[in-house]
Amino acid sequence: MSDLHTEHVLLTPGPTPIHPRAMRALTRSMLGHMDPEVFALNREIQADLRVMYGTEPEAFTALLAGTGSLGMEAGFANLVESGDEVLVCANGSFGRRMAEMAARYGAKVRLVTAPLGEAIKPQDVAAHLNDDVQMVAVVHGETSTGVLNPVPEIAELVRQSGALFTVDAVTTAGMEPFKMQEWGVDYAYTGAQKCLSAPPGLAPVAVSERAFARFSARRSPTPLWYCDLGGLRDYWIEHTYHHTVPVNLHFAFHAALRAALEEGLENRQRRVREMGRVITRTLEPLGFSHYVRKPEDRLPTVLALRLPEGFDDAGVRKALREREISVTGGLGPTAGVIWRLGLMGESARPQPYRRLMTELADLLG
Ligand code: PLP
Repeated sequence: MSDLHTEHVLLTPGPTPIHPRAMRALTRSMLGHMDPEVFALNREIQADLRVMYGTEPEAFTALLAGTGSLGMEAGFANLVESGDEVLVCANGSFGRRMAEMAARYGAKVRLVTAPLGEAIKPQDVAAHLNDDVQMVAVVHGETSTGVLNPVPEIAELVRQSGALFTVDAVTTAGMEPFKMQEWGVDYAYTGAQKCLSAPPGLAPVAVSERAFARFSARRSPTPLWYCDLGGLRDYWIEHTYHHTVPVNLHFAFHAALRAALEEGLENRQRRVREMGRVITRTLEPLGFSHYVRKPEDRLPTVLALRLPEGFDDAGVRKALREREISVTGGLGPTAGVIWRLGLMGESARPQPYRRLMTELADLLG
């Protein structure tokens, strides 16, 4: 087996290549989860997460010991009670996952949908909103189709309704603007392995003061003990034991998030957009075209490109894989129809895409 660590070109919509500073931080000698140095590091992570998510100063931020899906699940587990009405925007796999999770925590789920490859329309959300809706949930960047949902516009509607607003920021936070306080988002989460290029296994979350108050007023305990917001607060703020956090992942995450903030979120946003333009310009002459029709609906961090007529999707990706390049195809109905090129974190760099272009040109002759 080759040394995947140095050789492999990972162009998938997550995980992304680990940032070199995060890689170095992983090798720091181990500390205990209750050590003062770890609490100091956690405090820095919490402050940096407030910057990344654009939260109010009082917002609670933390890392959950699991992937992005745990961030999703923890939101519903803590903020939904049996019988609550939850409006879920579902225009792809991850919106549907949200709906399934909310239902498992007892919510009466209503869906706002849009055809595959199209964004949720704010007027459709407005049509479903009423005083009985306790939460609205939406995926900011729908990875399965490369669609960016209009979170600021939906947020404005939700604010007027008084419902809590949950946003899946898995493919956006850290790479695209995220303004939790300005928009009025109550709960947001991502996965460490996406836009921040940290190792998988952590879900950074942010909880508004209003959402925390809703949690504190629950009629019944949070069914998911592991991510109970009270237990998380005990560890992250009171510094009492709840569970053993993966300290080495915290080291790496801290380094990756610092690197992102030092680069600057606006600079990262420009980098991903410029990379997307260059890649599209290079692939269009080969017959690739945008899958998402409207430019404003396109998610910059996951470039969804329709494959050329007669293109051997599985065969070409297998041949690329043999040359140490991973590219992801479509999911479900878009399998064999699109490629989803990851432009998150360290994937959005010219070097790995130059490798892809060279190998593709060679394969397609
Ligand atoms: N939400 C979105 C938009 C995603 O793209 C993903 C993963 O790709 C998830 C949630 C789930 O994250 P994970 O696979 O880290 O559990």
